Amino acid sequence: MARFNDKVAIITGSSNGIGQATAVLLASEGAKVTITGRNSDRLGETKKLILNAGVPEGNINVVIGDITQESVQEVLIKTTLEKFGKIDILVNNAGAGIPDAQGKSGVNQSIDTYHKTFELNVQSVIEMTQKARPHLAKSHGEIVNISSIGAGPAAQVANPYYSIAKAALDQYTRTAAIDLAPEDIRVNSVSPGAVATGFSTVCRGLDEQKSKAMYDYLGSQRECIPRGYCAGPEDIAKVIAFLADRNASNYIIGQTIVADGGTSLILGAHAHGSRMIEAI
Ligand code: NDP
Repeated sequence: MARFNDKVAIITGSSNGIGQATAVLLASEGAKVTITGRNSDRLGETKKLILNAGVPEGNINVVIGDITQESVQEVLIKTTLEKFGKIDILVNNAGAGIPDAQGKSGVNQSIDTYHKTFELNVQSVIEMTQKARPHLAKSHGEIVNISSIGAGPAAQVANPYYSIAKAALDQYTRTAAIDLAPEDIRVNSVSPGAVATGFSTVCRGLDEQKSKAMYDYLGSQRECIPRGYCAGPEDIAKVIAFLADRNASNYIIGQTIVADGGTSLILGAHAHGSRMIEAI
């Protein structure tokens, strides 16, 4: 029997990148999935990938919209229940580093950037959790939040609000996990390092070619990614699936699994280790 047979999952931000790979993986392993994002063409691409994996069309529910809008969150819950009758898994994946409208970085970024970043990366997760809670309590379900190694402890000057939003999300994951444990809802999260997705297009304004070049360069620098390559979205989807699978991860509560190819274990001093010895 497939791992997610009879399970119903909502995966936010599934029109691209990590969310898309997660939707394809869960659906191809038996889950009925609600996929969602603002871009209808890319959402159509996700649907096509799921169908190409041999999944029947009736196992896919598509909702186009902005996850920060309460009306869209309500449609996600309502249509999932109407179409599939329950919710077992909520993957809060939609997120982005919102570029500052005036191109500023560090402490000079605007408060408007701060609000938009928190609305997407924290508030929408809180709202989706609240809305899904009664249904997940009925099904004894799972929540998987997607955070980032940007949450710390290393400083992140280029996109400070993104990283503090993800740090807030990590604490929300721990808090929600303990609050919801008595209802038999498990909450955990995944913290990826660099993953080759549309993220750098949104966050850094790079076109696809430059974005690919950046990920290739990063992956080739062992002091950036000791694993030796930049993750693909499928690498992270597998970790999300592990946390969404009660059989596999039943005793893990409120934890963040770091999936960064070793990036967060390297300090600047380590990267220059051999050269420091040569210098003395
Ligand atoms: P992508 O840009 O490839 O995908 C982001 C997804 O989120 C898209 O489907 C996008 O859909 C959706 N999204 C963004 N804003 C909204 C919104 N307002 N309403 C609805 N959907 C929205 O990036 P990733 O796959 O890389 O990002 C997925 C998660 O992983 C994010 O939470 C990100 O912070 C996290 N992450 C990514 C890393 C990386 O290096 N890629 C590293 C660490 C964490 P659409 O545009 O159609 O609305």
